[in-house]
Amino acid sequence: MSVRIRDHGWILQRVAFRESSLVVRLFTRDHGKQTVMARGVRQNHRDGRRAALAGLHTLEVEGTARSASAMLVLTRVDIVKPRYRLLQRPETLLAAQVIQESILRLTADADPLAEVFDLSTSLLDLLDRGEHPLPALALCLGRMIHLLGYGWRLDGCVACGSGKKLTFFSVKRQQVVCTPCGTPYAPRLLPITPEVLAAMTLLPWPAHTLSEQGAGMLYRIIMNSLARVTGGPLLTDEPFRAMMIPSPNIGSH
Ligand SMILES: [Zn+2]
Repeated sequence: MSVRIRDHGWILQRVAFRESSLVVRLFTRDHGKQTVMARGVRQNHRDGRRAALAGLHTLEVEGTARSASAMLVLTRVDIVKPRYRLLQRPETLLAAQVIQESILRLTADADPLAEVFDLSTSLLDLLDRGEHPLPALALCLGRMIHLLGYGWRLDGCVACGSGKKLTFFSVKRQQVVCTPCGTPYAPRLLPITPEVLAAMTLLPWPAHTLSEQGAGMLYRIIMNSLARVTGGPLLTDEPFRAMMIPSPNIGSH
C-alpha cells in the first residue's frame, strides 16, 4: 500500500544522489526524521524546489512512497517560513549546524517530536533575527535534552545531598556537586556559577539573559553531556566553539 506524507519540516542534511537528485533528511513536525528523495532537483537551475531545499526554511513538504518501507519521493515542497539572513553569517550557520547534528544524533527516525520541532524552529527564528547564537543555542539544547528525557539533577550535591555551595557539575552523573565534595575531583568536573545554575534550572526560552561567560559555561556542560549521551563529541562543536568562544590563552602573552 502506498504511503503519503504531508507535513511541515526543515532540512537536517542533504546528500547528492547520482547526477541529478538529492536525498534530504528532514525533521518534520508530526513524522519526526524522514528521508526524502528529490528526483532531478539538481538538473534544472530554475527548478522551484531547488531554492526551497537549499536553506534552513520551514517547508511544507509532500512525499509518497510505494510502501511503508520504501523511501519517500518528494512530490511537492513550498517555503512556509523563509530564513535567508541566517545563511549569511558564519556564526549563525554554524549554530544551525550544531542543532542539525544534535537532532540527527539524538532522535530516532519517524519518531514524532512536535515539541522538539517547535523548539528547533524557534531557535532558527532567533538566529535569523540576529540573536547572539551562543546563549540561544545553549538554552535550546538544554531544553531539548530535557524534552528527550536526558535531564540533569540540580537540587542537591551528588555526593552529600547538600543544596548549598553548588559550584561543580558532574557530566558523568548529570548532577551538581558542592564545593567541599567536588574540590578534590575538580579536574574531572565542570565549574558552574549561580547564574548558570539558575539558567540550567529554569531553561528560560526564548531568552538572552546569560552573560558571555555563563553562556560559554552552559554550552560546555551541554556539549559534554551530548557527547556522553551520543557516544562521542559532535563534529560541529569544534568549529562553532572556535568561532564563539575565544581561547583563554589568546592575548595573554
Ligand atoms: Zn557535597
